[in-house]
Amino acid sequence: MRTHDCGMLRPEDLGKRVTLAGWVRFRRDHGGVLFFDLADCHGITQLVYDPEALGKEIDKKSLSDVLNTFGRECVVRATGVVRERVPGTEDPRNPTGAVEVLIEDAKLLNSSKPIPFEVAEQKNSLLANEDMRIHYRYLDLRRPQMIANLRFRHALISAAREHLNKAGFIEVETPMLTRSTAEGARDFLVPSRIQPGHFYALPQSPQLFKQMLMVGSVERYYQLARCFRDEDSRADRQPEFTQLDVELSFVEEADVHAAIEETLVHVWRKLFDKKLKTPFPQITFAESMARFGTDAPDMRFGLELVEVTETIRSSGYEVFHNILKKGGIVVCLNLKQSVVKEKDPEWGGVGRKEVDRLIDWAKQQGMGGLTWMRCTPNGLESNIVKYFPEEVRAALQKRMDAEPGDLLLFLAGPKMQTQKAGGALRMKLARENGLLEGKDHQFVWLVGCPLFQADPLTGKLSAFHHPFVRPVEGDIPEQCDMSKVMGISYDLVLDGSEIGSGSIRNHDPAVQRKVFKLLGLSDDAMEREFSFFLEALEYGAPPHGGIALGIDRLVSILLGCESIREVIAFPKNKRFQSLVDGAPAKVDQSKLSELMLISIAEEEEKRERVEDD
Ligand code: ASP
Repeated sequence: MRTHDCGMLRPEDLGKRVTLAGWVRFRRDHGGVLFFDLADCHGITQLVYDPEALGKEIDKKSLSDVLNTFGRECVVRATGVVRERVPGTEDPRNPTGAVEVLIEDAKLLNSSKPIPFEVAEQKNSLLANEDMRIHYRYLDLRRPQMIANLRFRHALISAAREHLNKAGFIEVETPMLTRSTAEGARDFLVPSRIQPGHFYALPQSPQLFKQMLMVGSVERYYQLARCFRDEDSRADRQPEFTQLDVELSFVEEADVHAAIEETLVHVWRKLFDKKLKTPFPQITFAESMARFGTDAPDMRFGLELVEVTETIRSSGYEVFHNILKKGGIVVCLNLKQSVVKEKDPEWGGVGRKEVDRLIDWAKQQGMGGLTWMRCTPNGLESNIVKYFPEEVRAALQKRMDAEPGDLLLFLAGPKMQTQKAGGALRMKLARENGLLEGKDHQFVWLVGCPLFQADPLTGKLSAFHHPFVRPVEGDIPEQCDMSKVMGISYDLVLDGSEIGSGSIRNHDPAVQRKVFKLLGLSDDAMEREFSFFLEALEYGAPPHGGIALGIDRLVSILLGCESIREVIAFPKNKRFQSLVDGAPAKVDQSKLSELMLISIAEEEEKRERVEDD
């Protein structure tokens, strides 16, 4: 239908007769000379109807009649000759901007309704609201930014596949209609018509299937797997998302890390023409919590937390003492004058007003408050330094490497809560002072995680990652503090976001049974839900392990997008609705009857309506 796409023409093509097809993005009428910006996913080319420049053989009347039907976003085809633009009207930002096509023949291929929002390239701040963009996603995708996002995602996935294929992995599809098991989040259920009262579940991940592939001797598996989790909607979550799911047999933790690092090295080379430095650094869970206040540390900048519980123990500051008595801790962060973006003329670094704002923020985070001391040429100063003897102040200053102009910020409370608040404070200060700008991406492996976490109130154990992680010792002693048992699991963290998670698995069914039991699964429940899997382990399961990388998150971080929805062609909105097709939706009663289901939601609705009236 066409000789060129809309991004191709250059001055070398002058004089060529070409045919283009695409969407009419804009039209302008300059006193009888008509200009059309013709767009497709490759670019934009200017078409011009210039009656005076046309030869006698061309029927101008019928050509202009056709062109008069060309409204915005109509699909058209035009044939004409490539010519130079009038000097001074070239568009240097557009690769085709030196030329235009003098229209000699044109055809309307399809018309368009008036568009609900602008689809031409524009600033993010001018975009239509997101629900609107998701509702008309096919129009939103016409924006060059969205096309670029999809292309980048495709390039990343292709590069990963390319490497994994070469490294001896095979891509295997695992079922979408699976058994509902009590692992992790809530399942999306699918009723079976043929076996009424029975349900499939959409997979939360291919975890058990990829492990069974290992039992089946597949050895090196991967899959671009769609996963489904019926969780409460949260800012940057999707109920369905894509993982690069990987599993290997006869491996230890380091082998899985290396397989992923090599894949990412290839992706980096392909996408950015850069050499990614490997091996990625590793940090233990405990160290990450202590230094960064999170299990997904952003290590692109310093501003680390330092625990000063022992340093301040001999101070007379009651607020801290009361917390220490209850087993709490005190963490400190040194906001160096040199990193403060807007320096206070009086205080050098952050000013008093700003400190008050930080104190309010800490209270909103559920902390009692925030204690501060500023470093001056005469030592530490603040409204409470009088409670800190000279030697404590000197020790603090030394420990925190505080120099005049620096500000020390202290948070105190129960260990985990205080570390997390410190981590949030660190990220807030980094964002506000531009510490993340222009930094190279930084991967880190989070390792050394516990196998279980205990509910602080009930003591009930839950899996720190998931129930299939192998304990470091291979087994769990009968009598021990379960919260101290470590598992061979790891997260891959990129720029402060967890983008992957994996582990070495229990290949010994007896250990797997023990873990289930410790997690509170009765023999009955274990039999009911996991007997198929436990049985598979009984037929000579090889030692194995793997990982899954969250593709939506990885792509959105690399593109600097605010939300993963920007890198998904047809995402759900924040309320998990698919606005483009209107899912979820009610279905006809006849469909429910066929499945032997009745909906009590309708009754509920009716009752609520009556109550409202
Ligand atoms: N199945 C796990 C998840 O979805 C990843 C893994 O352990 O391989 O988080």
